This record gives sequence, C-alpha cells and structure tokens, in this order.
Amino acid sequence: MEYRKFGSTGLQVSALSFGTWLTFGKQIADTTAEELMIKAYDAGINFFDNAEIYARGKSEEVMGNILSKVKWTRSSYMVSSKVFFGFEENKPNQRGLSRKHIIEGCDAALKRLQVDYIDLYYCHRPDKDTPILETVQAMNHLIQQGKILYWGTSEWSAQEILQAHLEAARHHLIPPVMEQPQYNMLERKKMEDDYLHLFKHQGLATTIWSPLASGVLSGKYLFDNPTDTRLSIEGLEWLKERNLTEERINKVKAIKKIADDINVSLPVFGIAWCLKNPNVSTVILGASKVPQLEENLKAIDALPLLTSDVMDNVDLVLNNKPVLPDF
Ligand code: NDP
Repeated sequence: MEYRKFGSTGLQVSALSFGTWLTFGKQIADTTAEELMIKAYDAGINFFDNAEIYARGKSEEVMGNILSKVKWTRSSYMVSSKVFFGFEENKPNQRGLSRKHIIEGCDAALKRLQVDYIDLYYCHRPDKDTPILETVQAMNHLIQQGKILYWGTSEWSAQEILQAHLEAARHHLIPPVMEQPQYNMLERKKMEDDYLHLFKHQGLATTIWSPLASGVLSGKYLFDNPTDTRLSIEGLEWLKERNLTEERINKVKAIKKIADDINVSLPVFGIAWCLKNPNVSTVILGASKVPQLEENLKAIDALPLLTSDVMDNVDLVLNNKPVLPDF
C-alpha cells in the first residue's frame, strides 16, 4: 500500500480507502461486509468511510459491530462519519449543520460505530440555512471535547470552504482540513479547477468518492445489462439515469481500448487514473463483492503503466479536461 500525506495535517492516509455507501446495511450481507473490511485492512487500508445517512444509520451499526469484533488496534485505522442529512423523524432540527444537529449527530454516530472518537468528521453537504461560523464553532467544540480529531466538508464549493477558513482564522478556531468530492474520469471540474487555490494555499486534503462512477467505469454495462447491481436497486433510478447515459457508455468503450493496450482491467485503470492526480489524498473504493475489492486493490501496482502518453490519450477521448486561464 502507498501512504499519502493528508493535506496540511500530520496524518498519513492509505492511497486507497474503503467506503460503505449503498452496500453495508443495505445491498450486502453483514458477513460480506466483514470479509470486505478485513480484506481492505489486511491490504494496508487505514481509512474506512461512513455517514449517518448510509442505510439510515445501519451502515455505521454494521461497521461498529465489525470493529468491535475484529479488535484492531485503534491507532492503526481511521474511521469517518458525515453529518447533514439526518434520518430520524424528519423533524426540522434532525438534519443540517446547526450546532444542535452536529453535536447530536456526532454522539449518535459514536454509539453506532462503537468508538470513543471519530477520526474524520464531515459536513456531508453545505447548509444554506446555518451560518458557517456556527458550523465551524460546533466542529471546533467537538475537537476540543476529543469526540472528533479532524473535520472537513463534502461537496462544498471552493467559496464555502474558503469562508469556513476565514471564519476559523478570525475566531482562532480549527479550520476544515479535508473535502470529499466526487472524482472520476467523467467528473473532473471540482478537483482539477475549482479547488486548485485551496490545494495550493490551504493544503486541502481530499478523500474522493465514486472513482468508478457507481460501477459504470468498471465496464460491466458495456456488453451486458446486469440486474444484480447498484443501478438496479429500487429507489435508485436517479442514479441510473445520471450514470448510464449513451455518452458515458461510448466514452467507457473508448477508454477500454486504451486500458487493453497496457493490459490493465477497466476498474483498475479507472482507479489508477484517479490516483495519478497528486491532489487526491485517497481514493475511496466501494465494493459489493470480495473479488471486486481484490481487483481494485491492484490499482497501486498499475500506476507506473499510466504514463503521460496514456494520460494524454485518455484526455483526448474524454474531452472534458477543465481549461484553465493562462495567468
Ligand atoms: P465506485 O464508483 O467505485 O462504485 C462502487 C461500486 O461499483 C461497487 O459497490 C460495485 O457495485 C461496483 N464495482 C466496484 N468495483 C467493481 C469491479 N471491479 N467490477 C465490477 N463492478 C465493480 O464507488 P462508490 O460510489 O461506492 O463510492 C465509494 C465511497 O465513497 C462510498 O462507499 C462512500 O463511502 C463514499 N461516497 C461519498 C459520497 C459523498 O457524498 N460524500 C457519495 C458517494 C460515495 P455493484 O456490484 O452493485 O455494481
């Protein structure tokens, strides 16, 4: 496993990490979840990603049960949670980034995960109705209490992240240190354009999600119409509509030719492509089956095969590289 410096912090994060969205407590059996976590940990993964909303708390419960069973040394891994969406009774204060929901959400996540502290705690989305200073103060308070170690954001705009930094600096509070954006060959703007200033000046760390665009970049939808996958889950029609478009499938077909030429499978190619970006601290892997994880873990070894010529060819096919101003 390769370990990367986690932005401006003193942490080292494994370049590949492991997440549970739509799988733990929902799509897969708890026994499979346990096998996957053990496989990931044994491969050197030291960051496990979760959120209060995943399977409405069940994902954290499943992970908590596994962590308490396997008894890994607590200092050997990091675990995250994310607050915002809530899921209890849909009452007004049971979601968002108010001090109340952040503190209540953290306490609930700690119980479900059965840990004394959460290493990385995220604001899962921006909250237009809560002043950013209130959110910064609540996160700072949780750090002072020792309930979380670092805090960050997910899918915030560059302006919102910068605003949090300004509020933190003005009030001598701890700023957000990491962001969790979507990043893959089909979604590039935030990582390759919007956040560049934050990487350079704030040392922002990133834990990127959906490296395979929910499985589309694995190539499994090219010649087949599998029905036992995430994109067939009832209620996720929006995800299928967003990801399984003709334009995307055509791009995946063209990328497959480039991957075939260097003898790398499409999922490994897609994950290695994300890792090539030095502003990626860790690529969060998702898997519904153990062989998928085994395959995806090969991405580290494939990195040297993605030469600059190969990367240029990918850019030509994708035709979506953000164009930056010359100044
Ligand atoms: P991916 O885009 O990599 O999708 C993972 C899914 O693709 C798997 O569950 C599996 O689904 C399929 N897949 C993976 N590997 C293979 C393979 N080798 N061959 C064939 N199919 C494969 O990542 P996720 O979308 O799961 O995102 C990763 C993590 O990021 C999440 O678990 C979560 O922790 C985090 N996340 C954060 C978000 C945020 O808003 N902050 C949003 C979304 C995710 P199947 O078998 O069902 O096809």
